[in-house]
Amino acid sequence: MANAETVNLLDFDAAGLVAYCASLNEKPFRAKQLQRWIHQFGATGFDGMTDLAKSLREKLQTRAHIVAPAIVSDHVSADGTRKWLVDVGNGNAVETVFIPEETRGTLCVSSQAGCAVNCRFCSTGKQGFNRNLTTGEIIGQLWMAEHMLRRSLGAGGGRGDADQRVITNVVMMGMGEPLLNFDALVPALRLMLDDNAYGLSRRRVTVSTSGVVPMMDRLGAEVPVALAVSLHAPNDALRDDLVPLNRKYPLRELMAACQRYLKVAPRDFITFEYCMLDGVNDTDAHARELIALTRDVPCKLNLIPFNPFPESGLLRSKNDRIKAFAQILMDAGLVTTIRKTRGDDIDAACGQLAGEVKDRTRLAQRTHRQAKDGAKVIEVRAV
Ligand code: SAH
Ligand code: SF4
Repeated sequence: MANAETVNLLDFDAAGLVAYCASLNEKPFRAKQLQRWIHQFGATGFDGMTDLAKSLREKLQTRAHIVAPAIVSDHVSADGTRKWLVDVGNGNAVETVFIPEETRGTLCVSSQAGCAVNCRFCSTGKQGFNRNLTTGEIIGQLWMAEHMLRRSLGAGGGRGDADQRVITNVVMMGMGEPLLNFDALVPALRLMLDDNAYGLSRRRVTVSTSGVVPMMDRLGAEVPVALAVSLHAPNDALRDDLVPLNRKYPLRELMAACQRYLKVAPRDFITFEYCMLDGVNDTDAHARELIALTRDVPCKLNLIPFNPFPESGLLRSKNDRIKAFAQILMDAGLVTTIRKTRGDDIDAACGQLAGEVKDRTRLAQRTHRQAKDGAKVIEVRAV
């Protein structure tokens, strides 16, 4: 039963569950059992937790619940990309996107409802900041996606079986700036890596940041997962305009933070993301500046074709320009990829994650509208 007096066990990482069990006078190994039930077997209740003493199950029934955010809508794109809009209360919703590829399945997870950073090219930023998601709401997106995907595939077995894994990678690239919700983010990341939960290797979990320098250091110290830095400009004047956070943490500090990060994760590299904006940041001169800027940081460059939205007043760079830009970087020895746009027909691509909805009465209408031609609406639940 979920009510204000009971705790949501999705909010706890391993240490949190041990502390919670201690508060019930239960031994630490009970926490491990519970964690496996919740995250590996997707349990939603306590009755079936047969290896727990009946007395503990009864205690849990009155004091705890396991509830992931409710699904508002579920769309599948023509290319297999699947997007869920999940309810995070008070009429707000965030988006979770699954991107299947031949050799992996990537889940794109949101960390905040809205975002305060307000990058010029980002529709999430245009909505302003609403609130931080809880740990339960962040890990709940993975919990829910595992459940939904396994159900669709009719997969059996425990979620921890590596050979049965559908989600092989998680990227914190949905709505929000994850490093501005650090305290809720870290336990969620720990659960992603935990062998008694999702057991992903730390290189398969990526945090994407617009460059919150002090929190990059803390992430490195606490849970050094793969790091993507949203660069988008090779000099401070342009970056100040595109990513306003740059005025607080300019490029020199950002590059130094990247180098420090790689000291704690020595065999890793930073992925620099660069959104290609027509006539704004995509000239040959910008490419050369970018080469000079990133010279001392082991890195890969990921060029993202801009996903336009009307209020931005910006346009996507032409394909030939993106290719020419990439070629200059590659000629200088930089590993460069151009991101394939996925899920365009269901607005599931980067920067189109605009799931915040304040007016609950219009929610179902709006989610129906979001499924454009070619997209299939699987399920729309009333809120
Ligand atoms: N706040 C974090 C993570 C979420 S955004 C960050 O900024 O890194 C995930 C990625 O999508 C970022 O690289 C972001 O710059 C990019 N993005 C945002 N809006 C976009 C748009 N309209 N077109 C293409 N990429 C966009
Ligand atoms: Fe926030 Fe990232 Fe969007 Fe910038 S790009 S407004 S940091 S979500």
